[in-house]
Amino acid sequence: MEQSDYFSLLNRAILKLDSNTPQARSEIYDRARQALRNQLGAMQPRLPDAAIAKELQQLEGAIRQLEPPQKIQPEPPSKQPGKQQAPAQPPRSVASRGIFCEHCIAETTDETPGDISTLNGIGRQFYGSAAPCPECASVIRTLWWTLVSLPVVPLASYRYKTSEEHGTRARFWCRKLPARHWNQIFKTWVIGIAAAIAIFVGIYVYHQYK
Ligand SMILES: [Zn+2]
Repeated sequence: MEQSDYFSLLNRAILKLDSNTPQARSEIYDRARQALRNQLGAMQPRLPDAAIAKELQQLEGAIRQLEPPQKIQPEPPSKQPGKQQAPAQPPRSVASRGIFCEHCIAETTDETPGDISTLNGIGRQFYGSAAPCPECASVIRTLWWTLVSLPVVPLASYRYKTSEEHGTRARFWCRKLPARHWNQIFKTWVIGIAAAIAIFVGIYVYHQYK
């Protein structure tokens, strides 16, 4: 799952707290860390260490977003993409021809996914990153229909490229692949669902027995 998914899972757990104190929040984070570590470590076939580390990093990133450093409180960077900021640049199919290499253009179509926005956890979101192109550095990502930030229905796979500027605006180009990338879809499902269940169960058990 991505940082924004962990963010919304943790955020909802925090909203359910009887008393939202730093102590109570930090207990939630510890439960989530432990649950996620246990779950990913126990998965069969065994996940590569890098994949486990990446998931844990996404979780830590979400925690940092929820608990910004005490001294300065800068505007948290785009917690709700597309909600308040200018909407993400619509992908421009024709312009994307100049962005991708010939090979990637040949294996894809001009079809665009339209406006990607997630509202209240229901919407569409890209997950995964596979088969990086050695020529133009695009990767294959799958667009999912999501419910409470969980990937539910894989809609289509795309060749995907972000612009080089890392601003708050998500700016990307994508070109639709004729077929869904099932390998990636399966991985997204397994990791997304296992991580979500682990965190839910971790928090639930904690509330039952505290
Ligand atoms: Zn390419």
